[in-house]
Amino acid sequence: MANAITTTSEIKDVTKMERIGAHSHIRGLGLDESLEPRQVAQGMVGQIKARKAAGVILQMIKEGKIAGRAILMAGPPGTGKTAIAMGMAQALGKDIPFTMLAASEIFSLEMSKTEALTQAFRRSIGVRIKEEAEIIEGEVVEIQIDRSITGGNKTGKITLKTTDMETIFELGHKMIDVLNKEKVLAGDVITIDKSSGKISKLGRSFTRARDYDAMGADTRFVQCPEGELQKRKEVVHTVSLHEIDVINSRTQGFLALFSGDTGEIKPEVRDQINTKVTEWREEGKAEIIPGVLFIDEVHMLDIECFSYLNRALEDERAPVVIMASNRGITRIRGTKYKSPHGIPIDLLDRLLIISTIPYDDNSIKQILTIRCQEEDVTMTEEARDILTKIGMETSLRYAIHLITAAHLVAKKRKASSVDVADIRRVYRLFLDEKRSVNYLREFQEQYMF
Ligand code: ATP
Repeated sequence: MANAITTTSEIKDVTKMERIGAHSHIRGLGLDESLEPRQVAQGMVGQIKARKAAGVILQMIKEGKIAGRAILMAGPPGTGKTAIAMGMAQALGKDIPFTMLAASEIFSLEMSKTEALTQAFRRSIGVRIKEEAEIIEGEVVEIQIDRSITGGNKTGKITLKTTDMETIFELGHKMIDVLNKEKVLAGDVITIDKSSGKISKLGRSFTRARDYDAMGADTRFVQCPEGELQKRKEVVHTVSLHEIDVINSRTQGFLALFSGDTGEIKPEVRDQINTKVTEWREEGKAEIIPGVLFIDEVHMLDIECFSYLNRALEDERAPVVIMASNRGITRIRGTKYKSPHGIPIDLLDRLLIISTIPYDDNSIKQILTIRCQEEDVTMTEEARDILTKIGMETSLRYAIHLITAAHLVAKKRKASSVDVADIRRVYRLFLDEKRSVNYLREFQEQYMF
């Protein structure tokens, strides 16, 4: 990390890159309330059966019903296995951990394969910790106020968002009258005098009934004045088991979380953490949130990794493991045996399998249209038709790649939209896999051996 200074422009570039990353158009699984996939929604197109199955799994994860289960997404390249996994991650929300791993990464890390897998497993298990913290003098405490107001007749109730704050709570019940009298509304900052319960308003005010109506349920802030109300409040935050491991690993410390250089973690540390978390759980201080570990190109794992997975899935704290593979019957790495997707039969036997199928031209065109929007590219209808044809004959991924290239070519000729000629040009410039292989065959004697 010799060159650790990041400039603002670099940050902007990274943001842009993330925005147009391969799956940046995916915002969820695109399901309706009854978990039925919409043909096109949240950036997702078609692949209805697989999305529906993913939706059912998602529901089970949310309800905490399938920890320790494993799912395999199997299908040809570019049929949306990763896209569906990303959609699931989005739909799960921030509070449930989702870890993504390409199986080949296991072999490139500077640690043993099983250590890398253990870390990935523990990254995918969340611990929701409830902690008590002091309210600092003058700190702004959030409370939720839900009041239904009709005409000039003001009634309502106050719900505190934070618990374990008896004083504020007591005051809260008394507060409604005072709030009405003082005409306190959303956005106002009020101070509470602990001894007298007197509420003073510091912020703006609305007086007319229709202002109340427009506000509905709202959040207000209570500001504790200096020297008063030193109570405890409950703070909830979710961390992963891996983060707790790293913070408590004496040789590494929490700084390792920032550098990403966590190294191997001693089994004793993990045992201690497991015991501690179990204690917290029994005392009602923490909750285990099994998340999702997504392992892409799972056929790249070897037999040792598969045995590890088999064992690790038995653990009561195991996350849901989703694997993806585009291989048919192939050799299990580290053995001389073949099996479907290169996965040993005993593991295969415990998997729920979701299969993805090749797209028709309609879906390809819709995906390409969404990608054009995502990359801010205007493309004529005819150009999109040609690109769809290319997508059908080569691969969806290749057709997606051509969007940016064709856009650059169009920009060079100062055109505002990509046309058929631009697509033809980049199709000739960049080979797809099939043409590249043919080219190699034709000219192989000119290459080095
Ligand atoms: P591989 O087996 O090669 O890893 P994959 O099945 O994981 O392929 P993806 O990477 O998910 O395929 O798909 C290729 C590209 O097409 C990605 O940019 C992805 O976001 C997009 N894509 C695939 N399927 C859909 C879909 N149903 N809706 C929207 N975008 C999709």
